[in-house]
Amino acid sequence: MKIMKCANLHGINDLRYEDIPMPECGQDEVLVAVKSCGICGSDVPRVYTKGTYHFPTVIGHEFAGRVVWDPQKEYEGQKVAVFPLLPCFHCKSCEEGNYATCENYDYYGSRRNGGMSEYIAVKRWNLLRVPERVSYNEAAMCEPVSVARHAICKLNIKEGDNLLISGAGPIGILAGQWAKSFGAGQVYYFDIDERKLELAKQLGFARYQEGQNINCVLEGTGYSDALMKCLAAVQPGGRMVLMGNPAGDINLTQNAYWHILRKELTVYGTWNSSYNDRQNDWKESLNAMADGKINVKPLISHTYPLGACHQAFEMMKNKTEFFCKVMLTMGVQDEKN
Ligand SMILES: [Zn+2]
Ligand SMILES: [Zn+2]
Repeated sequence: MKIMKCANLHGINDLRYEDIPMPECGQDEVLVAVKSCGICGSDVPRVYTKGTYHFPTVIGHEFAGRVVWDPQKEYEGQKVAVFPLLPCFHCKSCEEGNYATCENYDYYGSRRNGGMSEYIAVKRWNLLRVPERVSYNEAAMCEPVSVARHAICKLNIKEGDNLLISGAGPIGILAGQWAKSFGAGQVYYFDIDERKLELAKQLGFARYQEGQNINCVLEGTGYSDALMKCLAAVQPGGRMVLMGNPAGDINLTQNAYWHILRKELTVYGTWNSSYNDRQNDWKESLNAMADGKINVKPLISHTYPLGACHQAFEMMKNKTEFFCKVMLTMGVQDEKN
């Protein structure tokens, strides 16, 4: 039996770097040699507090690699990224192509084995071809890039719109890059972490100061205080998209609520990303990375080999270093860029 290395979650706070049997491919699957897998912000609580749907599960849903075996030969040798959600294809959302809101989905890296592994069998439907000039690390960031694009698209940015983004983490910064590519004027940030603001500044974005003329807002933190600051900042007639996962109950003061009414604000929600023929944030993201419209490289602050996964998770949990995006790499890296 062939075996491979993986990061396997056996229980809460029980992540093991170990050998497991190589996956077998079904007819609708290909075997991907994973080369890079990002550690999502959600993976840290998944390992330490929340767990996966069943144990053991190989975690990791932000990954890219190369197809090493395709029973139908269609993708063999191709560099690929993977859309991690496996929809049911039967519910109302699926019928409309809104797979992110599927009522009965499966998911690589939380409900079934994911990408922190040397190999994974991936359904053909979930594969995206990656141009060779986009590196594995970049391609493994396709999910956050797509989530950021999906959120920004809600705002329907017009030339010269000034955007305020609350939260300068990887998705916030990527959202700023998308907004610029859609013609936004200024993109301002606020964040409680000075180091994140510093990174945003290095990438050409400004820090928000009270009184700046803001007509679009992306709330990316999920905290009431941040939301109220956004509501106070935006101009009358402004548009706001809410993206941050709520940290707890969201409460608004009466005054903050008045802003929504008196300024006649339009407030949108955004969830995950689109992956269908009408809007495919994933394809657009790969194209934008290939043409340099979106530059994810400065956001990758750390790269660890898969064997050092514990060190990577501990660093993120304990925040012993400043990090933005943390990548795990595995197998033979067969690219030059
Ligand atoms: Zn993620
Ligand atoms: Zn469904």
